Amino acid sequence: MIPPIARRFVAGETAPEALEHARACNENGIAVILNLLGEHYDDPADVRADVDAYLALLDDITDSGLDACLSVKPSQLGLDVSAELFETHYREIVSHADDVGAFVWCDMEDSDTTDATLDAFASIAADHPWRVGQCVQSNLRRTREDLERLVDVPGAVRLVKGAYDEPESIAYTDKAAVNEAYREDLRYLFEQRDRGVAVGSHDPEMIALADRLAREFGTDYEVQMLMGVREDAQRDLAVQGVDVAQYAPYGDAWFSYFIRRVRERRENLTFAVRAVLGR
Ligand code: FAD
Repeated sequence: MIPPIARRFVAGETAPEALEHARACNENGIAVILNLLGEHYDDPADVRADVDAYLALLDDITDSGLDACLSVKPSQLGLDVSAELFETHYREIVSHADDVGAFVWCDMEDSDTTDATLDAFASIAADHPWRVGQCVQSNLRRTREDLERLVDVPGAVRLVKGAYDEPESIAYTDKAAVNEAYREDLRYLFEQRDRGVAVGSHDPEMIALADRLAREFGTDYEVQMLMGVREDAQRDLAVQGVDVAQYAPYGDAWFSYFIRRVRERRENLTFAVRAVLGR
């Protein structure tokens, strides 16, 4: 069982719990992006189990009428085994989403995986227009060129700053430089697209910038934030009429995800210590 302290960041261990969380978010006008926790599988049987879970989840989402979609990870779908295995599974999930009228996001992992991930996305989006969206990371120096390549791809793009440590040769490692790249990439996305832009950030400055860019260019966009992070802001934005989606992970592999969230910010650590001490 997930301890209450981790429940802030994780929607439960099972699909029914995750769907229940989605229902509660929907009541506050917030859509949900469900991610079954799991990554870096080297056994195809582990990959298959998660693919089957996602296929069933897509059915559950459509049957329930919830405003929810999925986000998958390349290494969860077999990229550590082979690019072919990954693309086959990614395609199978998006194809099923297309059949049932649902939507699938794909996370972006470390820079060794960028080419294979973007290639699969471009090919699958061409076959299933506007049923799939891809995350891209502004900390990578290549991203501006990737965004140019993706301009005509009929799929959504989630822009994030990037969560992986990458070498200076291929990435901006200084926070100010990452922020500057994010601003420029965001402007480019709003300039070039009229739909399918997702702002994957908790940063109030970037969210305000997106609002200004949307007024300037008329682009449809949504703000995406993680479960347990700035949930008050998520609700406030939804009340203001901004499209908001919460990325909510679930599953029994919750422990390492929880530790990552706690480590990344001092206030999360304080929250964790307080919860343990019961204060
Ligand atoms: P930061 O640059 O960390 O912080 C900027 C400001 O935001 C802070 O000064 C503060 O005002 C506010 N803020 C940030 N965090 C908090 C907090 N915990 N509590 C209160 N205020 C806060 N990365 C990937 O590499 N691949 C992915 O596929 C991916 N998917 C993501 C999906 C979503 C929906 C989100 C939200 C993030 C995703 N990320 C992904 C992570 C992302 O790359 C960043 O590491 C992470 O979002 C931190 O950057 P930030 O823009 O939120 O804010």
